[in-house]
Amino acid sequence: MEGVIVGVESTAHTLSIGMVSESGELMPSESSVFTPEHGGIHPREAADHHSRVASDLVSSVISREGFSQSDVKAVSFSQGPGLGPCLRVGASLARTLSKSWEVPLIGVNHCVAHIEVGRNQTGCEDPVLLYASGGNTQVIARAGSRYRVLGETLDIGIGNMLDKFARTHEIPFPGGPVIESKASEWSNGGSSTSNLELPYAVHGMDLAFSGILTAAISLSEREGLGAASWSLQEHSFASCIEVSERALAHTGKSELLLGGGVACNGRLREMAQIMCEERGATAHWPEKQYCIDNGTMIAELGRREIEMGRVTKLEESAINPMLRTDSTPITWS
Ligand code: AMP
Ligand code: MG
Repeated sequence: MEGVIVGVESTAHTLSIGMVSESGELMPSESSVFTPEHGGIHPREAADHHSRVASDLVSSVISREGFSQSDVKAVSFSQGPGLGPCLRVGASLARTLSKSWEVPLIGVNHCVAHIEVGRNQTGCEDPVLLYASGGNTQVIARAGSRYRVLGETLDIGIGNMLDKFARTHEIPFPGGPVIESKASEWSNGGSSTSNLELPYAVHGMDLAFSGILTAAISLSEREGLGAASWSLQEHSFASCIEVSERALAHTGKSELLLGGGVACNGRLREMAQIMCEERGATAHWPEKQYCIDNGTMIAELGRREIEMGRVTKLEESAINPMLRTDSTPITWS
């Protein structure tokens, strides 16, 4: 029987344990999402949540797939970027598993994992990635041995912006899916729309979302939640698609890959599809379970790195909350 690589994801609100076979077959993760009763995520409360649920998640993913501990060939974990206390729980868990199962440990870059799981799932080869998640919004493409960040948010992540907007309407985390359904209901599935003006912040190849958040909150007070949700999505998604299109044009690449939790959004996917069709490119996105933060993508990147001979020594396994996408050498094809 083929062995598996176990992946531990703990950068923010989600603790997730996933697996991939040595030949690259993805297996769904077991995840637990920390949802605060009030306000945003407090890193230490999220970390406490992760500690509480960790051992149950590990046992359930391994037994669900009919594997035993002896089938595990390596343990991979998110080394960064992310919230320090949350990352530390995942790293400690991964160190413990690797030591007790006597298998190699590998610390990986969370952002790069979003790309690699998308490449595995969709078959696209050399994409521009629009990584739109809670904490991150980046447009990324491979140049030589690095994934380079071609553009990114200058303030908050787009998902974070949607969640904050939702919270002003008492909608708990994650707010993005609820905003999507409010926008869709209001526009009758996108068939009757009127787009109310909001700030549109593209700065060269970079983006910003705090201005649109403030404006959308006051728009919703005047025009209602549905109209504001629709316009908020239209403006903020269009800015991401504009930068992605320019990245395709600059790099000469012809595949756009969506990743991150906001890539679950049907309207963002539709906009990506339209833009790509218009310029003769193709748009791709993984299943929703692999768009949001998940342990399977961490296992998949660990698998790619181990294939190329990289492992992480214990003394090099410290977390790095500020780890940059372009600081990870890409040695695989
Ligand atoms: P991640 O940080 O990648 O795990 O993704 C979580 C973020 O994705 C949160 O900010 C969610 O609100 C957002 N999200 C999840 N589903 C959707 C959706 N359908 N539309 C917009 N945002 C979403
Ligand atoms: Mg993420």
